[in-house]
Amino acid sequence: MSDIDKVSFPTKQEIIDSVDRLQNEAIEKLKQMVSFDSLLGKENDIQIYMEEVFKSLDLKVDRFPIIKEDIEKLPGFSPVNWSYDGKENVVGLYEPSPSSHCSLDAEKRKSLLFNGHVDVVPTGREGLWTQHPFSPYVKDGRLYGRGSGDMKAGIVAFIIAFKALRELGFVPASKLVMQTVVEEECTGNGTLACLAKGYNADAVIIPEPFFNIVTAQVGLVWCKVTVRGRPAHTLEMETGINAIDGAMYVVGELRKLEEEWNKKEICHESFKQFPHPLNFNLGIINGGEWTSSVPCECAFNLRAGFFPGTPLEQVREKVIQVIEKACKEKSLPYNIEWNGFQAEGCVHPQEGQMMKQLGDTFRNTLNKEPVYSPLLCTTDTRFFELYYNTPATCFGPEAKNIHGIDESVSLDSLRDVTRVLACFISDWCGLQPLH
Ligand SMILES: [Zn+2]
Repeated sequence: MSDIDKVSFPTKQEIIDSVDRLQNEAIEKLKQMVSFDSLLGKENDIQIYMEEVFKSLDLKVDRFPIIKEDIEKLPGFSPVNWSYDGKENVVGLYEPSPSSHCSLDAEKRKSLLFNGHVDVVPTGREGLWTQHPFSPYVKDGRLYGRGSGDMKAGIVAFIIAFKALRELGFVPASKLVMQTVVEEECTGNGTLACLAKGYNADAVIIPEPFFNIVTAQVGLVWCKVTVRGRPAHTLEMETGINAIDGAMYVVGELRKLEEEWNKKEICHESFKQFPHPLNFNLGIINGGEWTSSVPCECAFNLRAGFFPGTPLEQVREKVIQVIEKACKEKSLPYNIEWNGFQAEGCVHPQEGQMMKQLGDTFRNTLNKEPVYSPLLCTTDTRFFELYYNTPATCFGPEAKNIHGIDESVSLDSLRDVTRVLACFISDWCGLQPLH
């Protein structure tokens, strides 16, 4: 009898049952995480909490600051005009000790990385929420609160997946990295900083709030456009130049560019199912000082989507051209700043080994067909896929109203994703006894 015969590895059903026994703990953990108002610049408290969670699982924990100088020359870096003081990522690392009892042969065992972001977007007017956005509550099988779906539930899913295996007395037989990052909602520089420190694996899953396996994502740029006019009293309005009117004209011209980029004939093959895959969003606008004065300045922030394969430089040039032309026509001095997302689009090929395995594990675990589909936003998977030659995808719990009012996540879906991730660790990394 060989050594391996002495260990009986958990069945799929045993793994599922172990996950299900931890569902209440998962919900409690998610509530705690949502109660942190981890907005941009306020991510530190939750990261200290995450460090404790990882330590409780006996992971090797690295909580480290993002040093802008260490990453600003790397491909994928997005410039920022805010401070990185005190901004930290947390990495929990599991490295198995050699064991002769592994569920997979050595050549089949592969390492895995789970990544999730703890930063959340602003809540909008709090009074519009049924309850305070950072006072999570459960109703009709959903947990409500800012960040519940995007993407604290996803983080809970991979933590509980790992824990469920441990509860059965097993751990991954290959390296497993679990990391919680900051800055996903504005730059991705948190994940880039983890990569710069050498944290990577043979495959990456980011449980963003999409119950589909993600096959592609658009690129996007952020910019802030400031248009200057000439102030005047409204009784001699013709002597002034209205910066707000000017900005509205520029936006109109940018909308034409948006329509041009969305033309059916030039649609990227991964996004043909969408009638309008590339969205330009006017996210912030500021201008004017006085109702009876012709305003001298108006600034707006634009988010512009574009297809994978289009170089960033080309995207920016096109946007600049349109703004330049429009401002010239209206005799408006202008300024463009490129802070925040400068993110290329990318494709996650469905034929890849990890993508196939994730689909198989999904099918075997949940007894239904996985859906593969593209995304009209960006996620941190792009860094792994584009710059570190590592297959990556998103797959996470179903959520509603992310970035909106009364954001919520389905708790059944959280459980299903956790089941799939736990089984995926077993299928991809292999298992070995905890002791
Ligand atoms: Zn997200």
